[in-house]
Amino acid sequence: MSLTKVQGIVLKSINLGESDKIITIYTDILGKIDMVVHGARKQKSKFMASTQPFCYCEYVIFKGKNLYTLSESSINESFQGILLDFGKLIYGSYFLELVDGLSEKDNKNVSILALLLKTLYLLDSGNIDNKLLRLTFDFKAISLSGYMPQVNYCIKCRRKIQDKGFFSISEGGIACTECKSLKSSYILNEEAIQLLHKIKLIKLEDLRNIKYEDKVLALLQNIFLSYIQYQTGREYKTLSLIKNI
Ligand SMILES: [Zn+2]
Repeated sequence: MSLTKVQGIVLKSINLGESDKIITIYTDILGKIDMVVHGARKQKSKFMASTQPFCYCEYVIFKGKNLYTLSESSINESFQGILLDFGKLIYGSYFLELVDGLSEKDNKNVSILALLLKTLYLLDSGNIDNKLLRLTFDFKAISLSGYMPQVNYCIKCRRKIQDKGFFSISEGGIACTECKSLKSSYILNEEAIQLLHKIKLIKLEDLRNIKYEDKVLALLQNIFLSYIQYQTGREYKTLSLIKNI
């Protein structure tokens, strides 16, 4: 039996049998994996805390026939500030769900793990507007997963997009006023285009300097939601909770 040491964050957890769990974690060296944790739901289990969603840990694991099994764990960060605040918990749960939805099993993407961790630290800190953090996370997460929408140049004629455009979900980007087609269902004004250009390049910690209009952010959020669902072919159940807060 060979042991492997990974750093990883728990994306989700399901119960198995009387007292076991299967957890899905995103790791630094193996990507997204499922892992059995024996006895994790027993009162005295040493793994109770380290197998909860959001927990970022060092895990020592070994591979069985189908799944990995947990041998040892130590907690790096448990994001208590997120777990204890309902508003942050809803956003954080969406970030975990989206990374799960965008990631294939065993497909390693260190950048998306780093993005997720940085986003959760900022969410925990409360220093960034949650809606803006989510919009930026969406853009960066889909881009790192290979679905980056084209927002700087027209998807058809390559003309620079500056003050007006038409976002096409199925064609994955913005068409200029000359090239707009029936598939281009969202009209973007200059504010929306400028906000898209900013969040594409910005470092997350600099988001606190960004100003935006609520209706512009709401429009872009709707576009990203449609785009993400189109690309990943699944619904995100935590989104219905975000709408209610
Ligand atoms: Zn064009």
